[in-house]
Order: sequence, then structure tokens, then C-alpha cells
Amino acid sequence: MSEPRPAHPRPADLPAPAADLNALDARIWPLNAARDPASGALTLGGVDARDLAGRFGTPVFVTDPADVRQRCRDYSDAFGDDANVSYAAKAFCSRAVLRWVTEEGLGVDVCSGGELEVALSAGVDPEKITLHGNNKLPDELKRAVTAGVGHIVVDSYEEIARLAFHADAAGARPNVLVRVTTGVEAHTHEFMATAHDDQKFGFSLASGAADEAVRRIISLPNLEFKGLHSHIGSQIFDTAGFEVAAHRVAELAARIHGEHGIAIEELDLGGGFGIAYTQSDDPPDVYELAKSLRAVVAAQCAAAGLDQTPRLTIEPGRGIIGPSTVTLYEVGTIKDVDGLRTYVSVDGGMSDNIRTALYDATYTCALASRRSDARPMLSRVVGRHCESGDIVIRHCYLPEDLAAGDLIAVAATGAYCWSLASNYNHLTRPGVVAVTGGDAREIVRRETLDDLLALDVG
Ligand SMILES: *Cc1c(COP(=O)(O)O)cnc(C)c1O
Repeated sequence: MSEPRPAHPRPADLPAPAADLNALDARIWPLNAARDPASGALTLGGVDARDLAGRFGTPVFVTDPADVRQRCRDYSDAFGDDANVSYAAKAFCSRAVLRWVTEEGLGVDVCSGGELEVALSAGVDPEKITLHGNNKLPDELKRAVTAGVGHIVVDSYEEIARLAFHADAAGARPNVLVRVTTGVEAHTHEFMATAHDDQKFGFSLASGAADEAVRRIISLPNLEFKGLHSHIGSQIFDTAGFEVAAHRVAELAARIHGEHGIAIEELDLGGGFGIAYTQSDDPPDVYELAKSLRAVVAAQCAAAGLDQTPRLTIEPGRGIIGPSTVTLYEVGTIKDVDGLRTYVSVDGGMSDNIRTALYDATYTCALASRRSDARPMLSRVVGRHCESGDIVIRHCYLPEDLAAGDLIAVAATGAYCWSLASNYNHLTRPGVVAVTGGDAREIVRRETLDDLLALDVG
């Protein structure tokens, strides 16, 4: 592998390589990521990446519970005792993770019967579960009502009627929030306010549908109207979008007070707090974010003439689990494309991380099986699927002496990677391993070909 590689031109949107490719930026890598002083190999929670690969195979997701717990504490401390923090389980839903987050005092958001069963079977207090979704199935509503789920966020008129039916049948009176479409749609740095909300979630504020939903819920004796919910998007870096959303929801709360004489008890502003995937990402500190969000909510409620500020709930998913996890891959074929870049193929791809293909997501990676002081090589990390769009990292730098059999680690893959994983090309989905104090244990078993063949009953 000593043949010199061609120097490829740097793409305009890629910063210059870090001074030391072996360095692990603490904003991007999990709490206990380090390099072994002797071998230079990456260690995660005190476990050598080479041991993890040997024991559990690759690709493998490696999660640091201490990192997850620390982020739970940061959100809870930052938002304070008079706010609720609920983990959006769709980012990554497993029993172990739901236990960690609930042990740290968080609630759990689910948006399907499957996620609900994982939470219930993990022993999560049903009171602390919130059920979301734009098309909750009748059986899911029934299960949520009979299990005593703490909140149900209603999303359509039909659902209000269906929920009332199931509540009546179960002799229950579930707490209900109304999902409001504020017309604020946040995508990372920009947000745009649209008059007509052309999407499937929630009740439109602009059309008066949200006011009508509240009217119907209040008129139904077996639904307990608790307040309003708004979720404006994902991977958001500033509070401007939340400010506009809070303003509009507070105005609705004031109208509800005027019309019905009731003050909403709860205001759920959803999730979407951004994390750092690369050195170009600069998310706000959670404490700063909490301070400005709380100030925004208080100011908007006061401006709307509400004499008390409702209890605030936030629902971080990515912000809790995203940075805790890295994916380890083994390097296979390495191919230079003249004048462009070097393609580094790994033993997974879009089946374990679809975010790059789906959202043009960016990631950071590092050589994990050793350290290297070779020159930076402009690389594209690609998977092994039959799609040219099967890209894990569009551009990054890896050392020029990279060779087949090396391990690489991709950082911040905890959210929306395993949960969006597929069996495309009949690849088996990777396992998820938790690492703590030098110990590793599988929390989600790696799939086997026998698992896949067992489904094929034809
Ligand atoms: C997806 C989702 C979240 C979590 O979003 P993140 O970007 O992972 O923080 C929170 N609330 C609702 C209603 C969601 O749909």
C-alpha cells in the first residue's frame, strides 16, 4: 500500500483537513472516545475498536450509555424542574436506551404501536409516555388508552372521535394535546413561514382547524384537554423558528382562554435540536438554548395576554442519542477516480445509514484500527449496495495509507440510522453494542441470514 495516491482537488464545500487526522473533536465524538496510547486504535467506553469488530462483527453501532445519560441530565438541568423532557424514541428505539433515559427522569415519545410496545416492555411508566402520529391505528389508540398512556397528541378530527370512542369503551379519560401546524417549517438554518401548511401533520392554525379541534375535545366528556403541541422540524440550530411557533401557539392559547375560559396547562414545543456532525456544525449549547426558549415562551405568552405560562415540554430525539453512537465499518475496496477523489468502500452502507442519500447528511469519520500520520486523502466513503447513491460520507479525509482490513468509525450515527435501517440487498442489519468502563454488551442483536430466511416462507 505504499504506492502514492494522486492528490485530488478539494471540493468547494469541504474545509481543509484537520491538522491531525487522528484527533477526535469532543463536540462530534462520544464522551468516552479516545485513542489507545500504545496502539493508537480508537477506544469507545474503554473498549478497543478492534475488539468490538472481532467480537460483534462489522458494521456495528457502538453506543456509550454515559454519553446518553449525560445529555439527558443536560436537557433536564437546562430546562429545569418546571419543564418536561421527553425522548423521541423514533430516533432510536430499544429497551436498553429507553431504560437509560427514563432512569434519568425523561419521558418517552412514541409514534406507533411497535414503539409503544418497546416502551411498555422496557417497563416505562405509561404515565410518562406520549403517543404521536398522523394515522394512529384504532388498535394503537385502544392499546394506548387501556395501558394508561400519559398523553395522546391528536392529529385529525376523525382521530378525536375515534379516541373518544376507545376512551369511553375503556372507561378512561386520556390527556389530550392538539398538534398545531403553525406554518413554521424549520430546516436547519432557515425557516419559512407559509400561509398554507401543505403537509400531513396536525391541525392548521391559519384555517381555524386548530381552534375547532380544541372545541370538539372540550365538548367530549371523556377527553381531558391539556394543551397544545407544535413540532417545527429537525436539526435546528437557532431559536428563531421556535420563537415564531411559540408566538402563534400563544395566540391560539389566548383565543382558547377567551372562548372557553380555560388556560392551557401544557405547551409542547417538540424536538429538532441540532447536533454537530462535522466541524462546520455549531449547535447552541443546551443551557443557552433552554434559556432563550424559555424566555421566548414566557414573552409570547405574556404578549398574548395569558396570565400564566403553561408547563413547557420539549422532545429531543437526535439531541439525546445522536452523538452517543459511532458506526464501525471494515474497509474493503479502495478505488481512485482520477482527478476527483478516492472511493473507500465499507462493508455496510445505505442499509445502515440512509441519511446521506435521503437528506444529504454530512458526517465525520476516522481511522479506528490504528493511528496514522500519513497525508490526508480526499475520500468518499461508500457502501456495498447496488446504487451509485449508496454514499455514507460524500467527502472526508482519511489517511493516504488506508488499506483493506482497516476499520473506520463514523461519528454521531445514533439517531435515525439504525431506526431507518433496511435489508436492502439482503444485508443483515447491524447489532448495537453498549460500551461502559471497558465492557461491551450487545443491546440489539445483529441480524443473521437465518433471521432473513425465516421470514421467507414461500
Ligand atoms: C421527530 C420528532 C421529534 C424529535 O426530533 P429530533 O430532531 O430527533 O429532536 C420530536 N417530536 C416529534 C413530534 C417528532 O415527530
